[in-house]
Amino acid sequence: MRRVFLTLNAGSSSLKFAVFDSDNSSTTPLTKGTIAGIGGTPVFSARDTAGGALDAGAMTALDVASDHETVIALLLPWLANHFGGLPLLAVGHRVVHGGQHYRDPTLISPSVLQYLEALVPLAPLHQPHNIAAIRAVAKWRPDIPQIACFDTGFHRSQNHLAQLFALPRDLTDEGVIRYGFHGLSYDYIASILPNHLGDRASGRVIVAHLGNGSSMCAMKDRKSVATTMGFTALDGLMMGRRCGALDPGVVLYLMQAKGMAAPDIETLLYKHSGLLGVSGMTNDMQVLQDSDNPHAQEAIALFCYRAASSLAGLLPAIGGLDALVFTAGIGENSAPIRKAICDHLGWLGITLDDAANDRNATRISAAHSQVGVFALPTNEETVVADACRGLLTRAGKPE
Ligand code: AMP
Repeated sequence: MRRVFLTLNAGSSSLKFAVFDSDNSSTTPLTKGTIAGIGGTPVFSARDTAGGALDAGAMTALDVASDHETVIALLLPWLANHFGGLPLLAVGHRVVHGGQHYRDPTLISPSVLQYLEALVPLAPLHQPHNIAAIRAVAKWRPDIPQIACFDTGFHRSQNHLAQLFALPRDLTDEGVIRYGFHGLSYDYIASILPNHLGDRASGRVIVAHLGNGSSMCAMKDRKSVATTMGFTALDGLMMGRRCGALDPGVVLYLMQAKGMAAPDIETLLYKHSGLLGVSGMTNDMQVLQDSDNPHAQEAIALFCYRAASSLAGLLPAIGGLDALVFTAGIGENSAPIRKAICDHLGWLGITLDDAANDRNATRISAAHSQVGVFALPTNEETVVADACRGLLTRAGKPE
């Protein structure tokens, strides 16, 4: 019998969803949508396979009091109505942190959920919302299996050294290590690399996931060898609102000289820094690009310089570079940012084809470039849907 999977990606103020047919392994969802503005003025949008807008129906009942639980309470009947009662086989969630225990997609049980809850301090911006969505589905549809797919999972292939901080051993032993994030995005890009790079796909590749959250992953044989994010999703590249790599002495200064409490420092580093903090305007790269304000231009220049520096820092892990892939909101869409980053990296043998870059072509490097450069759309929900299919098949649940 035909059934569907639902994938959910719950952020602080948004819920992204996609519905996949369980009968085929198509990467195109039957429906894809977003509820943005949760906690303020929620805005619902959903499109079918052909890109046509779908009627919001009962979702218009969303209001300022809607949280993830009430959003999901409305979404599940909306989906049932839209799909003519097609049974929902499973719900797959993007979960940012799987800690040391969880690498592969995992069927969620009360004990799994308890472990994931203990990881909230490691991903305070994301994990609570992922958990809220899981709890909401469990409340409204306790009969449906739920599967967690972890953003940290892809990086567990890294060797021991790449995961270590130079901290006393007892902290390492209790799990203060470099985990890395954006793993679902990297997993997807790794899966399509052969389509674009042929044999070079298994070579030395760096993927730059540049969006509101940004990181890079150095791959060999399409596996993660090193990445820029660490213990939390705060480390590495400058981001929309996050500072990225920071001398830990700055945190001590904020505490000791300025008397700031931990929650205020958390807000400063996670929400008031990055593009927003440096520009004093916005975390939205597109808006900054259109501005001639010198602080906006400085924020962009710093973003690109730090991205190039971080890329260079990954090179010892893979011993050189065969290909660079840009992905996510900025990486897929912003020709000027890709150009500015690549301009810092000419010494590596990177030469862009400016016309191809400007038209957001798939391959954007010049024919004679020693390093192939690509702009490829990521697709995290496909990875979650595939994981649901795989896990349920292995568990012997009928499709
Ligand atoms: P994401 O988190 O992957 O959805 O990416 C969001 C970021 O991508 C925001 O900073 C957007 O401004 C940026 N973005 C999306 N489209 C463009 C574009 N055409 N040019 C520059 N930045 C863009």
